[in-house]
Amino acid sequence: MKRKKTHLLVLGGGPGGYTAAFYAADRGLEVTLVDDLPRLGGVCMNHGCIPSKALLQTTAYLEAMDKLKDRGIHFDKPRLNLRDLNEWKDQVVVKLGRGLESLAKSRSVKVVRGRGTFEDVNLLRVEQEEGQQYYEFEQAIIATGSRPALPGPMDIGNPRVLTSREALEVESVPERMLVVGGGYIGLELGTVYARLGSEVTVVEATAGLLPGVDRDLVRPLGKAMESIFNEVRLETSVEHLSTSGEQVEAAFSKDDSSDSGLFDRVLVAIGRQPNTAALGLEDAGVGTDGKGFIKVDEQGRTGNGQVWAIGDCCRNPMLAHKAAKEARVAVRSILGERASAADFRVPAIVFTDPAVAWAGLTEAEAAEQDIRFETASFSWKASGRALSHGRTDGLTKLVVDPESKRLLGVGVCGYGAAELIAEGTLALEMGASVRDLAELIHPHPTLSETYQEAAEQFYGTATHQVARKADQP
Ligand code: NAD
Repeated sequence: MKRKKTHLLVLGGGPGGYTAAFYAADRGLEVTLVDDLPRLGGVCMNHGCIPSKALLQTTAYLEAMDKLKDRGIHFDKPRLNLRDLNEWKDQVVVKLGRGLESLAKSRSVKVVRGRGTFEDVNLLRVEQEEGQQYYEFEQAIIATGSRPALPGPMDIGNPRVLTSREALEVESVPERMLVVGGGYIGLELGTVYARLGSEVTVVEATAGLLPGVDRDLVRPLGKAMESIFNEVRLETSVEHLSTSGEQVEAAFSKDDSSDSGLFDRVLVAIGRQPNTAALGLEDAGVGTDGKGFIKVDEQGRTGNGQVWAIGDCCRNPMLAHKAAKEARVAVRSILGERASAADFRVPAIVFTDPAVAWAGLTEAEAAEQDIRFETASFSWKASGRALSHGRTDGLTKLVVDPESKRLLGVGVCGYGAAELIAEGTLALEMGASVRDLAELIHPHPTLSETYQEAAEQFYGTATHQVARKADQP
């Protein structure tokens, strides 16, 4: 058995893995990056964030065109060519993939295609079409990501039951579509299909869409979702699926009652699982918890002092930008520098319309953790920019420490919230106070002013909203 030697081996080429590989190479390490997809970029770029945002952005035009009729601009009924739509979306992915390959090459990162399995504490076997290769490493970073959860009662071997991966290949526009799960994926991809013309039913087991997200932010979204979807069923679980001729039958339960429905396609979006099985982790001395997440310390170090793990395979939230940050922390730790992933303010965005975005503590989390807080919010009804977009269905909210007046959390629901959350995240990360946000000159007319207005509202002095608080500066 011939062994190749490498300094740093990175297993997994998604946004966590390739960021780690590129950063390590930039910092002078010799790097081998192993991935079994034909293109770098992982699920995020190939079968997740990027194609889904391409579809969301494109189908948003359909909705926008429809809305323009109220403003005197009329279009004929759009005609869909799904082949062209898929091709365009694929081109976005291909372009990004080529970019990553060339970035790897120019950094001399050796990319090895194949499936990697640990054989020992410092040895990885890579299965390739041509045979096996063995890599002996000084250090390794595991970044194997996650996959959609598809529990047995829903895994019925019927191609009409889709996970996000299949749903991103829009082969047809089903007449009736069931979306199981009112979380990130269900709402984003449900939106795409509803805009294309499907009658979409969303079934969510808990009492509200996007469980865990601030209710004030979810409220405007909930209204929009009720108008775009055929039906939103809350506190309802999908118990199992079965094939019924050309359709899929779904069994629903709510409290003590049950019923069922027939659908042409079913998208199962009930969460994701870490990709940690069949990696030989035991042979590598790398431990996992009861849910299959790799156990790591603040730097991402596993039970094997030579091996780190980052991203979806080791902890929530399963977000690409969190994985990329952990990648840099792990590489710094490998280089012997001080770094920690313990105290990140990870922004999160649900790319619905309106979008929902937040960072830091939510009101509910502050309450749960017995942290004293106050809140201030600004309704977009009074924003000139929101009015000119015809999109006043938004809210900007701040969670504030009543003593220091520092921001504890920020949240935005509204058109463009995905881009707006960066300001709030920066303010949080820089330890800004609500006064800092109020004093900062925000350009007019922009939606960013809603941060300033929310901050002024904290003091009862928002220009475009009547004061509710006596607490003047
Ligand atoms: P999720 O955890 O966001 O939502 C799953 C939902 O399914 C939950 O609300 C849950 O209550 C519900 N559910 C579970 N079992 C059910 C059942 N039997 N019947 C009805 N409802 C049920 O999971 P997801 O939407 O699959 O997304 C997975 C992860 O992927 C997310 O947590 C996120 O980290 C990541 N993601 C992020 C983005 C983004 O950043 N915009 C987009 C897509 C996915």
